[in-house]
Amino acid sequence: MPEGQIVRAVSGFFYVRTPEGDVRCRARGVFKKKKWSPLVGDRVTFEETEPGEGWVTDLHPRTTELVRPPVANVDQAVVVASLREPALQPELLDRFLVHAEREKLDVVICLTKMDLLEDESELDSVLDIYTKVDYPVLTTSVYTGEGIEALKAALKDRLSVFAGQSGVGKSSLLNAVLPSLGLKTGEVSKKLGRGRHTTRQVEILDLPDGGQVADTPGFSQLSFGNMEETEMGECFPEIAYFSPGCKFRGCLHKNEPRCAVKAAVEQGEISESRYRHYLSFLEEISDQRRY
Ligand code: GDP
Ligand code: ZN
Repeated sequence: MPEGQIVRAVSGFFYVRTPEGDVRCRARGVFKKKKWSPLVGDRVTFEETEPGEGWVTDLHPRTTELVRPPVANVDQAVVVASLREPALQPELLDRFLVHAEREKLDVVICLTKMDLLEDESELDSVLDIYTKVDYPVLTTSVYTGEGIEALKAALKDRLSVFAGQSGVGKSSLLNAVLPSLGLKTGEVSKKLGRGRHTTRQVEILDLPDGGQVADTPGFSQLSFGNMEETEMGECFPEIAYFSPGCKFRGCLHKNEPRCAVKAAVEQGEISESRYRHYLSFLEEISDQRRY
């Protein structure tokens, strides 16, 4: 039985991509009974009933599963932030990173609009924080072309979602890596979720240099609802790294004695700003509990 990847879903039809082309499939009722419905990004087995038409007969296990936008098997999140216009919001950046970690996605940080940068030291302090966490950081500008080849290389052979606050340049980056899409910036912007009121399906796009991207930004829901306090440390790789050294199991690294994480912050091995955001995210979880 042939296999493929669902790249688009429109009113009950799933478009399954194969090397020979897309096959428009419906899903067997059996999925409904199992309450397991096919998602864009799913690897599936299908049965072709006539050329270009068929039935999805089996869903393969997912490696990851995003809810908003609904897409399966995403490998990596490109977390996009600009230093200027809009100014960097470090807490918001960390919030996106936590969501990516929580979904078990690999992370690439993409700092945009380098052409607007006036003071290199601004960049250095950001690089210092995130390279300490071992996150790859790309610096890009769609105007000068800086970093675009590096971004293409980072996207190769993987399914990626772009995430980041509105206006940081996600659509512009997508345009830069996918010129063959032939869309004007405005159209891509619209596709990338400017029209918040129209619920649209995600579509997976093949990149000319290899790899795929979802055409809708990742993580439209940024609260920490239904997250346990103990999970937060797992979403900060550097905290997860040091926490086995804490005296108490389940240490939340707030005021507990002999906390290895707090010691690492004091020694400058964990950045103060990341730790501060960690504490404020914990606070947010316990506030949600209270009300
Ligand atoms: P999105 O909301 O994250 O998709 O951001 P857009 O791609 O729509 O970009 C928002 C604004 O930033 C637009 O006016 C873009 O022209 C501008 N922009 C995007 N990338 C760059 C860049 O590299 N340099 C500069 N100076 N402006 C950029
Ligand atoms: Zn601790």
